[in-house]
Amino acid sequence: MIEIQIEDKQMYLVDNYPFDGIPDLREKRHCIHCDEIIIVGDFKVYVGNDGFEFICCPNAPECDGTVIDWVPVGLWKDEE
Ligand SMILES: [Zn+2]
Repeated sequence: MIEIQIEDKQMYLVDNYPFDGIPDLREKRHCIHCDEIIIVGDFKVYVGNDGFEFICCPNAPECDGTVIDWVPVGLWKDEE
């Protein structure tokens, strides 16, 4: 997978966020793959071999979590 740079991240989310309720870039989420609290606006985008763009965890490529692995902070554990 190849990382691509996104100029307007908010606009990117509007176009590509897979769920209802597009988060603000300043919102925090808990990535259940790396078990870290991440800032939505720090997301990375990787393109797969089939051209599909994945909204990935800011800790990629160490973390293989994507946007579907982000849950609201506090759902799994309390925020530090
Ligand atoms: Zn992660």
